[in-house]
Amino acid sequence: MSSNQRIKKVCEHCNEIFIAQKATTKYCSLICAQRNYKLREKRERLKKAEAPAVVDSLPPVEKVGAVKAEAPAGMGDLITIQQLAQVTNLSERTLFRLIKDPEFPKIRIGRNLLFHRETVIQFIVRKYSTV
Ligand SMILES: [Zn+2]
Repeated sequence: MSSNQRIKKVCEHCNEIFIAQKATTKYCSLICAQRNYKLREKRERLKKAEAPAVVDSLPPVEKVGAVKAEAPAGMGDLITIQQLAQVTNLSERTLFRLIKDPEFPKIRIGRNLLFHRETVIQFIVRKYSTV
């Protein structure tokens, strides 16, 4: 029976040969067992941390698709002041100043302020063009 208690094994953590008391012993010492356990725990955590990152990389693709879907609406005839600022390369502040001009073509529906893109651009070009 004494032969069973002396088993030459290789530590799964430090790869050193040691004499195991039991055939099931995987590590040369408790320290190696604990270190290996922590290492596996860390790997598990990394796997879990990596998994959501892959999921996170997917929504931006959908967002790009959403932006593309929104783009035709932004190119539409009636636009908001924010969209007008983008179209004209003017700041919203500048636009609010220009809007005070009674001649400035604007569409007010209740609290909504909208602009007919082409009309506004034509108005700005006609009124402010120095050419
Ligand atoms: Zn070891």
